[in-house]
Amino acid sequence: MYILGPCSAETREQVLVTARQLKEVCGAMPFIFRAGVWKPRTSPHTYQGAGEEGLKWLQEVQQTLGLAVATEVATPEHVAAALKAGVDYLWIGARTSANPLAVQAIADAILDFRFLIFDLRLKGVIIKNPVNADAQLWLGNIERLERTGVPVIAVHRGCNHQPCWHMAHEVRLARPDIPMLLDPSHMSGDAAQVPMLMGKVRELGLDGAMVEVHCDPKSALSDSAQQVKPEEISEIIPFGVTRPLLDGLELNWLRAEIDELDERLWDTIAARMEVSERIGRWKKAHGVAPLQPERYQQIVEKLKAKSATMQEGGLDADFMLRIWELIHAQSLKQQE
Ligand code: PEP
Ligand code: MN
Repeated sequence: MYILGPCSAETREQVLVTARQLKEVCGAMPFIFRAGVWKPRTSPHTYQGAGEEGLKWLQEVQQTLGLAVATEVATPEHVAAALKAGVDYLWIGARTSANPLAVQAIADAILDFRFLIFDLRLKGVIIKNPVNADAQLWLGNIERLERTGVPVIAVHRGCNHQPCWHMAHEVRLARPDIPMLLDPSHMSGDAAQVPMLMGKVRELGLDGAMVEVHCDPKSALSDSAQQVKPEEISEIIPFGVTRPLLDGLELNWLRAEIDELDERLWDTIAARMEVSERIGRWKKAHGVAPLQPERYQQIVEKLKAKSATMQEGGLDADFMLRIWELIHAQSLKQQE
């Protein structure tokens, strides 16, 4: 399953041009066209979406190009407007997914509509992972939405522009029956990283992807840096490759987790060095020597206590302290 289209529906022309170009590039490969009309933006001073007007453009995409369409909903009012407009798939974004009451209200609104409208077009509800790395909350949301009787699809979009494989792995193991898609656009925030991340779809046996595509990414009113052009899709989606690599799937998931942890380890050490450098400047300005034995001793005692509890869990305390000694020695060298 591939869900392609712009972050936001901005104008009728932008929506129709992007959809038309995507249809040309994808040829016989089926895809769902996405565009957000209500945008949960961080700042109230940025583009907030076209609102209900944008739903008319999505209807035009359905009618003129025969594509199924998806849009984001965050409130029961959004659900009512989107379902009245005949939207095929609703998606719940990462910010809304962090709030179980909001997800429940959306599920209730969908259920109400199922009884009200007999020929509901709705084919699926897509739930992104919450902005915080909480697998249990994501699983809880899946359950809340399953009660609507509409098929549920999970989307792993990571946290803070980073993948969160341990969370996705936990959800995959708990609910192998729920399709899981990758959102490389929000996962990286960077169009250049999208092709590399897409390799994970096959490597991890995922069920497809949601990718942000804009006819002119530079001019996009939201998420400009991460949207790709329609013509780039043929390099990003492995056309014709439908079979996942089933051998070693579990190993691939575990390796993805290790890669993620290595990256975090690196980033944490780099961040620590940066703070240590600032401390070094402060010490120089105040005539304080880099090594303060009392402070050093305090840290060693604290880490020893921590290592002892970790050792109970099977971790080698000496090894942990040796790593810290190495990092600390490098910090001191930097402050000299
Ligand atoms: C989006 O898909 O445009 C979006 C807002 O995504 P997320 O909820 O993952 O940030
Ligand atoms: Mn977006």
